[in-house]
Amino acid sequence: MSEINKNKGVMLVLSSPSGAGKSSICKALLNLDKNLFLSISSTTRQKRPNEISGKDYNFVTEEEFKKQLKKNNFIEHAKVFGNFYGTDKFLVDNKINEGKDLLFDIDWQGAQQLREKMREDIVSVFILPPSKSELEQRLKNRGQDDDEVVKKRMDGASSEITHWAEYDYVIINKNLEESVNTVLGILKAERMKRIRQIGLGEFIRSINLDN
Ligand code: 5GP
Repeated sequence: MSEINKNKGVMLVLSSPSGAGKSSICKALLNLDKNLFLSISSTTRQKRPNEISGKDYNFVTEEEFKKQLKKNNFIEHAKVFGNFYGTDKFLVDNKINEGKDLLFDIDWQGAQQLREKMREDIVSVFILPPSKSELEQRLKNRGQDDDEVVKKRMDGASSEITHWAEYDYVIINKNLEESVNTVLGILKAERMKRIRQIGLGEFIRSINLDN
């Protein structure tokens, strides 16, 4: 992209109760859109067997997390289901100013903090499950967590859902492909927002027909 058409990156925030299909949507988005990068969070949660450290999360001890928190390294952080999660401040600044778009798979507490700090840059999308029974089934089918964790997440789902109205867009995830395409459409439109096209003034001057 030429300097004249320089864009500021979109901070695309996706939240949902766990089991609504957000992880699958995120994975597909990252595969399909090469200007979109995942904001890799730090967490004190135990790594799941299918997860890769440094790719899905930076898995850290509680001591390390608190050290980083004290150094003010997180742009937002929250405790979710008893574990700490935080977003690296420097990664966000670098990517956004380079014109790269960042995908945040974070909960409503994180979304709220990002909105307070960077309102203009945030585009937030809330993903809803098609029904309560579907949500329960998806959580059980994942087979990644034990029964107690599934119950905790089911309880947490209803409190997460109460925050739907704080988001710019809401998608009921009935079909993965359709939901992914909808998010890609949102991203495409948000990239064209005047405030994100920071080189636009210069471009307008270059095509000023009066001169
Ligand atoms: P999980 O442990 O299933 O990967 O994630 C649990 C919840 O924590 C999900 O809702 C996920 O979006 C959220 N989460 C993941 N990373 C962060 C983060 O950096 N900040 C916040 N606030 N939430 C996060």
